[in-house]
Amino acid sequence: MAEAVAVWAVIVAAGSGERLGAEHPKAFVAFGENPLIAASVLALDDHPGIDGIVLVVPAGWEERATFMADDIGAGKASIAVAGGASRSDSVALGVAEVPADAAVILVHDAARPIVPAALIDRVLAGFVDGADGVIPVLPIADTVKRVDAAGRVVETLDRSEIRSVQTPQAFQAEIFRRALAAPDRSTGTDCASLVERVGGTVTTVEGDPRSLKITTRSDLERALELVDAD
Ligand code: C5P
Repeated sequence: MAEAVAVWAVIVAAGSGERLGAEHPKAFVAFGENPLIAASVLALDDHPGIDGIVLVVPAGWEERATFMADDIGAGKASIAVAGGASRSDSVALGVAEVPADAAVILVHDAARPIVPAALIDRVLAGFVDGADGVIPVLPIADTVKRVDAAGRVVETLDRSEIRSVQTPQAFQAEIFRRALAAPDRSTGTDCASLVERVGGTVTTVEGDPRSLKITTRSDLERALELVDAD
């Protein structure tokens, strides 16, 4: 971005993560020496382009979240709020805590603990040609088909036009707040889809294959291997 604007990050960590089979919510399972959420908090806290961070955690975990941020020296992460029933609800609850003067809001899934600084750089530098949002994407290796409810193939999509989408995703604050106010926001599986629905333009930058999303135990082990290999 050309001029300096206030950029706030919202880290959503309020999912239960049942598929991990842990007794803690997913964001608080151990990832090396710290809870999983600490990895993305540290990455965003360390980045000079981020001015403040809001943590969105399961109800009852707010205080533990701010203690954790304090513990790891993440001074930008001083606000923690309880999340909602859907990811979009959690994002909206987090964004409600972002100061009104923030011009850009970046949203990151705590379930993606590896957030290289270069990835954040690319996302923040992606606001070109009046884009309302910037998302990191990766090409996909598999062939993709659309199927109906009975499992019959409806069409084979052109793989060269398909991307898988990661976080962090960044948006101009004003249109993002408007997108989050939509009554059907819960049906959006990522933030960009909500901005697209209100007519916003979303542009893509190169994602990072290391920024995998933790869903199962083996994802957790794989992510730890990637961190160790760094
Ligand atoms: O469920 P899913 O894998 O899409 O979750 C992505 C991220 O959104 C996770 O970091 C999870 O903690 C968060 N989430 C949330 N509130 C929900 C559901 C998911 O903050 N109700």
